[in-house]
Amino acid sequence: MQFSNTYVQSVYDGLEKRYPEQKEFLEAAGNVLFSLQPVVEKNPQIEKFAILERITEPERTIMFRVPWVDDNGKVQVNRGYRVQFNSAIGPYKGGLRFHPTVNLSVIKFLGFEQIFKNSLTTLPMGGGKGGSDFDPKGKSDMEVMRFCQSFMTELAKHIGPDTDVPAGDIGVGGREVGYMFGQYKRLQNEFTGVLTGKGLSFGGSLARTEATGYGLCYYVEEMLKCMKNDSFAGKTVVVSGAGNVAIYATEKATQLGAKVVALCDSNGYIVDNNGVNLDVVKQIKEVERGRIKEYAERVPGSEYHEGCKGIWTVKADVYLPCATQNEIDEESAKAIVANGAIAVGEGANMPSTPEAIKVFQNAGILFSPAKASNAGGVAVSGLEMSQNSERLSWSFEEVDQKLENIMKTIFHSCYDAAEKYGMSGDLVAGANIAGFEKVCNAMIAQGITY
Ligand code: NDP
Repeated sequence: MQFSNTYVQSVYDGLEKRYPEQKEFLEAAGNVLFSLQPVVEKNPQIEKFAILERITEPERTIMFRVPWVDDNGKVQVNRGYRVQFNSAIGPYKGGLRFHPTVNLSVIKFLGFEQIFKNSLTTLPMGGGKGGSDFDPKGKSDMEVMRFCQSFMTELAKHIGPDTDVPAGDIGVGGREVGYMFGQYKRLQNEFTGVLTGKGLSFGGSLARTEATGYGLCYYVEEMLKCMKNDSFAGKTVVVSGAGNVAIYATEKATQLGAKVVALCDSNGYIVDNNGVNLDVVKQIKEVERGRIKEYAERVPGSEYHEGCKGIWTVKADVYLPCATQNEIDEESAKAIVANGAIAVGEGANMPSTPEAIKVFQNAGILFSPAKASNAGGVAVSGLEMSQNSERLSWSFEEVDQKLENIMKTIFHSCYDAAEKYGMSGDLVAGANIAGFEKVCNAMIAQGITY
């Protein structure tokens, strides 16, 4: 990757040399470093205190063996990770991902992005991420429980309510968080808010389940209002994924007056031009843990297509990618532009490749990067930590209102930071800069520690 600033270039080259195999991490780091060039030029302290070298190297990387016994009595072994990336502005905070594609590069990319995302929320949270290459799909509840207990037996040595507070991500929902919380409590003999995304009966926050999807829509609504004097009302929307983020983005976009016409999972996508019936989706995905294909079998007039890429050819005004990283490549981005889209709001982490983002930006489509528009989940996780510390529970409306305010604030921080550095309307640069400035100031103020 080429940079105009020589200091930034040398930092990136150093990463490429040390971690040539970490494709996802290099992509994420490169994108952030690219945006920070004007900030580096204005602030010589960044180079003097080696802030970029320090911020791209995790404070701590933990990798461990996770042995567990399956239902046939066979011993299985997976690998666990926790990358504690940056604690300058608060305890490490970030989800755990259980998916066969998990490796150190993926966890480092997610942990790195989390630093800036958490900073944008205005709440005091550092950045971290973890997970395992364990695949919960097709496993029994008891197998998932035994895996979670084994995973937490090691992880518990490294986390705590004031040290590192993990949460869910792909493959880690309420069930997994519950099993891990139970094991942590048993090991430490204390009931603390060490994980977020907990069940409501043991310290979870109302609106955490909805937070990422709702937050995405609050952000996009504000972006449409401020940058196009428009709104979701009357718009057609394509949402990818059919998991937690996708379901609640669909719910909020619909409440705001839009019609969601497509959803997918990793096998294929459905199109329903009458507007997706979310009760049916929730029944299939949340209750039965089934496949999105079943939607077309239950809802007359809807269609199912094998393969995911085709979802980006479905015509819409607004696209909300909410499945996984790099799901929109250059070709899909071109299809989105050709469909006449006005906005793309990232719900998943890094769903658009750098080439795809260029296509959107060149076409003048409003584009909101994940670290800004999907920060609602971690924001409500931060509010869950506050409630746990207070030993109080706030109402759904109270949390939802705070979430909406946070998402609007995030939009304006990104917008203003882009403006300040002469990149008006570039929310990618704005998000990176606004997220970075607070962490950078805290690192300088705390001296050369990590
Ligand atoms: P879930 O596991 O609940 O859902 C993920 C969905 O995406 C599933 O429907 C899955 O289908 C689908 N999917 C996975 N891989 C692909 C693929 N290659 N192509 C098409 N679809 C695919 O995860 P979440 O909804 O929680 O997370 C989705 C994204 O949002 C991730 O990038 C996550 O990091 C990010 N995120 C989540 C937050 C949260 O609060 N949950 C917070 C911030 C970011 P299948 O069932 O077939 O695997």
